[in-house]
Amino acid sequence: MQETDKIWMNGELVDWADAKVHVGTHALHYGSGVFEGIRCYETEKGPAVFRLRDHLERLENSAKVLYMDLPYAREELRQATHELIAANGLPSCYIRPVAYYGYGELGVATTGNPVDVVIMSFPWGAYLGEEGQRTGITTMVSTWERVGPNVIPHVAKATGIYLNSMLATTEARRAGYDEAIMLTRDGYVADGPGENIFVVKNGTLLTPPLSMSILPGITRDTVIHLARALGYMVEETLLIRTDLYLADEAFMVGTATEVAPIRAVDDREIGVGPITLELQQAYLDVVNGRDQRWSDWLDVVATSRTPAEV
Ligand code: PMP
Repeated sequence: MQETDKIWMNGELVDWADAKVHVGTHALHYGSGVFEGIRCYETEKGPAVFRLRDHLERLENSAKVLYMDLPYAREELRQATHELIAANGLPSCYIRPVAYYGYGELGVATTGNPVDVVIMSFPWGAYLGEEGQRTGITTMVSTWERVGPNVIPHVAKATGIYLNSMLATTEARRAGYDEAIMLTRDGYVADGPGENIFVVKNGTLLTPPLSMSILPGITRDTVIHLARALGYMVEETLLIRTDLYLADEAFMVGTATEVAPIRAVDDREIGVGPITLELQQAYLDVVNGRDQRWSDWLDVVATSRTPAEV
């Protein structure tokens, strides 16, 4: 992780090295936190956070599912994010807000624990690599099932649920693949450890519905909008693993990953297709502020180098 100057911690900007937690922190023991992964891009108007309000809304939803009362309103967290980006002075960065049950009681119930909120911002390149974005990534269907809706709520971007993702990613990397794909208990395609999945078949985009144990991805939603605007049909439908093997094209999407072509699944070659590359380009144009039709999704940050603009 590349360090930056400041971290926003419970209402204050503190030095990177001072943003510490106690070892008795509830979330460290039980994974009782919620978080977001957001990107800020360098645009002509200055640094611009992509769909910041939507990410903060998902953070609120995640907190609600965990019975957690966030001590800051959405607008306060939005301002805090702006303040942090301006303080760290990076033209583009990854933003990681996390809210968690802090230090108080060590019982599994959360009573008696404060809710702490932290926001980090630091530079982070393409999650699955620049090369992967161009030539495609290799994937394997994980032996780990995606958690079911009554196991841990997948709708919440909760820290504890990422043990599921960590196991799948680690298994895939150890086996020599770039990324894992997780299936539900019934064998339907869910999502990747940190990405949603799309398949192209006969010119139509197919992606699992929200009920298939997926995180309601903001990139997924963005890509659905962009694909429809480009004239493609998009269907949210159940997919099985052979739909991946026999796809004309397949790709993964996520804030960290952006749009990454899947060039192989379980050693069945798919290759990198034109619709994937078209959507990848469309996505990069939108997030970098090169397509004015979607400029409402960009939350421009006022910094010392850019005029105040909200
Ligand atoms: N699924 C999972 C399990 C994820 O962790 C992520 C990353 N947040 C995604 C999908 C993609 O979501 P988003 O596009 O909002 O980053």
